Amino acid sequence: MSASIIDGKDFAAKIKENIAKQVKILKEKYDLTPGLAVVLVGEDPASQVYVRNKNKSTKEAGMNGYEYLMDDDVSEEILISKVKELNQDPTVHGILVQLPLPKHINEAAVIEAIAPEKDVDGFHIINSGLLATGGKGMVPCTPLGCIMMLKETLGNLSGLDAVVVGRSNIVGKPMAQLLLNENCTVTIAHSRTKNLDQVVGRSDIVIAAVGVPELVKGSWIKPGATVIDVGINRILKEDGKTRLVGDVEFAAAAERAGAITPVPGGVGPMTIAVLLKNTITAACRQKGIEQPQI
Ligand code: NDP
Repeated sequence: MSASIIDGKDFAAKIKENIAKQVKILKEKYDLTPGLAVVLVGEDPASQVYVRNKNKSTKEAGMNGYEYLMDDDVSEEILISKVKELNQDPTVHGILVQLPLPKHINEAAVIEAIAPEKDVDGFHIINSGLLATGGKGMVPCTPLGCIMMLKETLGNLSGLDAVVVGRSNIVGKPMAQLLLNENCTVTIAHSRTKNLDQVVGRSDIVIAAVGVPELVKGSWIKPGATVIDVGINRILKEDGKTRLVGDVEFAAAAERAGAITPVPGGVGPMTIAVLLKNTITAACRQKGIEQPQI
C-alpha cells in the first residue's frame, strides 16, 4: 500500500478536544452552555445507535444534550409542534431530527419547521441557499467534515480537479458546493454518468457518496489522488457475520492513491465531531458572541 491513511478517528478526537475547550470558555466568560436537542422517531436500531452516540459526545464535550424519543406512529403535526417548541427554547441552540423518518411523515416539512439558525444538520432550504450563494449559514456535517480532512491533508485545494460521486441533498450536492468554494474544478457524477472510470481517473480529489459497496474501483484512481470514502455499507460475510465497507475498493485504491480514508474510521467519526462544532457555532451566533478560536 502506498497511500497514507487519513485517520478520521484521530482527527475527530482532536476536534472534540478543541470543542471541549471552547465550551469551557463559553461557560466561564458568557455563562453559556451550548445545547443540542436530538429527536428520534421510531426504533430503527441504526438510528438509535447514532442518537445515543450523538448525545454521549455532546455531554462529553460539556454541552447540554436533550433526547426526545417519539413513537413510530407519531403524527407529522405532533412532530412539527415538538420542533417548534424546541425552536422557542432558549437552552436549545441546535436541533437535529434523525433521518430517515417513517413514510407517513413528510421529511421536507419537518426540516423546514426547524429554525434555520438552529438547523445544525444544515439541511434547511435557507441553509442550502446560503451555502450556494456564499452566505453564512449552517453547513451539513458530513461534507464539512470531508472538507476539513481534505484541507488538513492537502492544504490549499485551489485549482484541483475534484469529482463527487453521488448528488444527494445531504452529502453530494453540499460537498460539491464546498469544493467549489475552495476553488476546485468540480464534477458531480451520478447514476446516469457515462464513463465513470474516466471521470474518476482524471480527478485529484475523489469523494464517493453513493451507498454501493466498492463501486469505485482501485484501478480508476489517478496515481497520487486523495480519496474520501463517505459510504457506509454493511455486507454479509461467508461466515454469516457482517462487515462494513465503503463505496471505494479500499485495498486496490490504496495502491494508487496518495491518501485515503478507511471505512470504518474515516468520515464517520468526523460527522459527530462537526455536529458539535456546528452546535457551538449556532449558540455563539444566537447570542451574538464571537466563537472562541483555539
Ligand atoms: P443517496 O442514496 O441519497 O444518494 C446516492 C447517490 O449515489 C445518488 O445521487 C445516486 O445517483 C448515486 N448513485 C447510485 N448508484 C450509482 C452508480 N452506480 N454510479 C454512480 N452514482 C450512483 O445516499 P446518501 O448521499 O445519503 O449517502 C451516500 C452514502 O454515504 C451511503 O452509503 C450512506 O450510508 C453514507 N453516509 C455516510 C455518512 C457518514 O457519516 N459517514 C453520512 C451520510 C451518508 P442518482 O441521483 O442518479 O440516483
